Amino acid sequence: MSVLIVGSTALDSIKTPKAQNPRLLGGSASHAAIAASFFAPVRLVGVVGEDFPKAYLQLYRKHKIDMEGLQIAPGKTFHWSGEYEVNMNNRRTLATELGVFETFTPRLPAAYQDSPFVLLANIAPGLQHHVLDQMRRPRLVVADTMDLWLNIALPDLLKLLRRVDGFVLNESEARQLTQEDNLFRAAKKIHQLGPKFVIVKKGEHGAILSSRGGLFLAPAFPLEKVVDPTGAGDSFVGGMMGYLASAKGPIESNLHRAMVYGSIVASYCCEGFGVTATTRATRAGIEKRRRTLEKLTRF
Ligand code: AMP
Repeated sequence: MSVLIVGSTALDSIKTPKAQNPRLLGGSASHAAIAASFFAPVRLVGVVGEDFPKAYLQLYRKHKIDMEGLQIAPGKTFHWSGEYEVNMNNRRTLATELGVFETFTPRLPAAYQDSPFVLLANIAPGLQHHVLDQMRRPRLVVADTMDLWLNIALPDLLKLLRRVDGFVLNESEARQLTQEDNLFRAAKKIHQLGPKFVIVKKGEHGAILSSRGGLFLAPAFPLEKVVDPTGAGDSFVGGMMGYLASAKGPIESNLHRAMVYGSIVASYCCEGFGVTATTRATRAGIEKRRRTLEKLTRF
């Protein structure tokens, strides 16, 4: 089954202690779409400017991503730049240039409106609402977010939480949203805001799921070398949604496995700048990492 993904489609300029790379293919939707494409057909909703390199459209095509919902608008593509500190866990945003995102209104092609799986990747919550308004009864809606929206669009985000099945956020966002330091309690509090399940991402320490079935802890795939973690969170949720769309049976019984697949695709993302390592992954490689992770966590 198809996954509809809306989010940012960006050019990212990234600086790490070891290297600097300008204008890479980035954005929450790009990372999530490529990650999901290993498991299921993907429909992309976003906007890019006339400066968006053809080679990046080609990359979407390589992953068989349906681009009917990708608008090409006059102006510049959304550009984000960030810099990592030595330990690679701390990141500073250097600049955000909205470009064509400033006037973006997501318009869903008719064929997308019946998509059974919907991922509202990180983008302004108002736009996430706008996509949901155009959908007919999806089977599963999951939303991701970032600290910026907690700071400047909290009422919209709180309204969104009442419309989604699952909500994914990172640990500092979970603490900020709930004013609760303990992540298990924070997840419980977020349930009370609406979503049936909540996933708190903890970077290299994996992710916590809190759902009706209780808690589940998904490990991160251990990496000795991290080149660029930008987009790991988006790859996690993209991989997870892709797997859910491909799996048979009730969603709740596939969720744990889906998180493990999400962790694995995220590990590829960290091994290269932008999407370079993710796009080189293969389904066989993903399965090999899954078996390794199973061995490492069985007891
Ligand atoms: P992550 O590393 O998972 O937090 O995601 C990084 C991605 O988020 C980058 O590829 C950026 O292009 C994208 N991004 C950064 N700021 C924003 C924003 N304000 N809205 C949407 N996407 C953003």
